[in-house]
Order: sequence, then C-alpha cells, then structure tokens
Amino acid sequence: MDESDALSHLKTKFLLPNGLVYLDGNSLGALPKAAKERAIEVVEQQWGQDLITSWNKHAWIALPEQVGEKVAPLIGAHIPGQVICCDSISVNLFKLLCACVHLNGSAGKRNKILSQRDNFPTDLYMVEGLATLLSENHCELLLCEEDEVLANIQEHGDDLIAVMLTHVNFRSGYIHDLPTITSQTHAVGALSLWDLAHSAGAVPVELDEHNVDFAVGCGYKYLNGGPGAPAFLYAAQRHHDAIQQPLSGWMGHAKPFDFTPSYTPAPGIKRFLSGTPSVISMSVMDAAMDVFDGVSIAELRAKSVALTRFFQAAVAQSSYLSDLELASPEDAGARGSQIAYAHPHAYALCQALIAEGVVADFRAPNILRFGFSPTFVSFEDIATSFAVLEHTMQSKLYEQPQFSQKQLVT
Ligand SMILES: *Cc1c(COP(=O)(O)O)cnc(C)c1O
Repeated sequence: MDESDALSHLKTKFLLPNGLVYLDGNSLGALPKAAKERAIEVVEQQWGQDLITSWNKHAWIALPEQVGEKVAPLIGAHIPGQVICCDSISVNLFKLLCACVHLNGSAGKRNKILSQRDNFPTDLYMVEGLATLLSENHCELLLCEEDEVLANIQEHGDDLIAVMLTHVNFRSGYIHDLPTITSQTHAVGALSLWDLAHSAGAVPVELDEHNVDFAVGCGYKYLNGGPGAPAFLYAAQRHHDAIQQPLSGWMGHAKPFDFTPSYTPAPGIKRFLSGTPSVISMSVMDAAMDVFDGVSIAELRAKSVALTRFFQAAVAQSSYLSDLELASPEDAGARGSQIAYAHPHAYALCQALIAEGVVADFRAPNILRFGFSPTFVSFEDIATSFAVLEHTMQSKLYEQPQFSQKQLVT
C-alpha cells in the first residue's frame, strides 16, 4: 500500500523520531524539516542579525496574509483575501461571534447562537463569555445534540444570530453535513460559523462554494505549524465592509503607522488583526505549510480514508481488541482523519501505548483516540501500531500502576 501511495514521499519532509509511530497529528502535528530550518533562520539571521529591519527586509509584516493564502486552497477559499492567520481559535471565535452579533443581532429578537453540546468546549466557553459581557438579551447560547441541528434551526430560526459548529467532531470524528446545515442556516436568516480545527489539512471543505459566512481553524494540528502555532480565520468577502470586531488593535487599522488617535478598520480581512503577530511562530507555520505545495486536499482525504479504514478493519477482526468499542462513525466516509474507541481503561491504555512507541491520545472520560495525519503516517505505521495495540491489550500491560498516573496535560 505504501508503494502505490502517491503521497508517501511527504513523510520524508518530516523529522520523526526513529521507531516511533506518531498517531497524534490531530493534536500536535509533527515537525517539518523546513519548519526547523526556518526557526533557526528566523532566530539567528532575521532576528539576530537583521533585527528590526526584518519587518520589511524579510516581510514579517506580510506574514498573517501570506500564511492565510497558503491555508486558503485547503478550505475552498478561492477568492483571494478571505483568510488570515492570527491569534488562537478561541480569540478568533470571539471576534467572529461579535461580528455576527453586530451583523445580525437584535435585542429580544435574534439573540441566539446555536451550537452542539458535544462541541469542543472552548467554542462554547467563548459564547458564554460574550453572553456575560453583552447580557442574554443580546447573546444567548442554545445547545442541541449532534443529530438535532437541523430541527433546532427550524424551531428557533427567527431567534438565531448564527449557527456555530465544529465540522469534524474532536472526539468521535463525526462529520457534519456542512452544505445542508449552511443552506438551512441561511434559509432562516442566520449566519454560519464553522470551526475547521480537525478539517483543515485532512478533510475537504468548500467554504466559497457553500456560501459559508465565517470559519476558524487550527495551525498546530493537521497543518503541522508547531506548538501554539497561530490559528486562521476566514470571512466571506461579501461581509468585509460591514464587519466590526471589538479587538480593534493597531494591526487591524487602515494605517497602523500613521499612529492616529482613533480607529479606522483596514479594508478587507486585515481588520481581523489585533496586535503584533508572533513572528517566530508564524514564520515556522509559513514554512510548514509548504508541505502542502502541489498536494490536493482530495488526495489527502483519499489517503486519510484508506488509513482509517485499514486500521479499523484490523481492530474489528481482532479477538484481543473486542473490548474496544468504536466511538466513531462506522463508515470511513462519515468520519474525519481520526478514530476513537471507548474503553474503561482508556487513559492507562494510552500511556502504555506511548511507552511502547505508539503515540495516541486520551480524551475524557473514556476515549482512546488515534489520529492519522495523511502527510506523515504510512500504511506500515498502521500495521505496527495495530500489532503494538494488540500486544498491549493481550498482555494487560496497561494494568501496571505507572500508566494510571494522571499528568497535567492528558
Ligand atoms: C484544538 C481545538 C481548538 C483549539 O482552540 P485554541 O483557542 O486555538 O487553543 C478549538 N476548537 C476545536 C474544535 C479544536 O479541536
């Protein structure tokens, strides 16, 4: 399978420890060689030697837009100038939620943001924070279950400011029907806001084609931008002129270096910038994005589906693994690039696998999650990880007490 894989060469663009199978690229992508080289260059040459002249000389000032344009083809943002790299998902959601309230809210009437109870918590927390700031007259979080979204859009349509969902569920990998939900959202006069944290770089989305209003996504997961890499933000061009966002910092000003006392937003997507970009992180992410040069998201998806299908087929036929309960959709086409299993000892199991050279992760309360980054996971890695998983279960290695010690980050 590796021999006939047209993307197998991508693995050579990464620095991975020998003998380790890394199935956690959905939490923190691996290190691209080009990213390491850029980190050294940015620190030694650009910062060390060229100092402040680098803002112009090495175009630091252009990084947020430049990296945004590199993300754009992976998320179906075909009109230029709609994606910008900045801040974290949480902060970008705050800016976009405020923009939605401004564009579409009205006290006592449209005041609800619909989301799903099982969404990634920070997304929900950001709405809660905004609701506290503005009062529930202006912003109220409405939660439903994964399969009740369309029914809730119908029921609460007149009250909805926006529908905010994560395209690929962070635990189960369940993929929402973005085209249908977005069009139903628009049919009731609400705005669509999608979190692409587990989509960008692994699962195709066509934001322009489906008229999505706003989206956010992560730099450090499938995009391999490095720990704490800046996130990205998409805003459809048709909204740009009307958008107001409250973190109106100088980098989003029309003329930041005029130093005028009052704020005038920059035209276009740059009005979503707030403060000075984290140049080192963003440079590293810029270099990391070059892994995707000449690779289509359709090819990445095809490989990702083949990887998860291969892994799950092996697990399903193993008599030693019958206690692992599939917590992802059965159909590889209906899930993202990850597979989750419920197991009462998921935490200890995960720690034991790491000790045996297979890195997966644990998500509370009882989920063992494997992520299959199509850029650097091979079919051989799947075979190896399956063998280690079988051995770990069969030998009950995970029952050793050291594997149950909870650490700060799980
Ligand atoms: C990883 C992840 C985030 C991370 O948010 P940050 O503010 O960038 O730390 C947000 N949403 C989802 C769905 C995620 O999976």
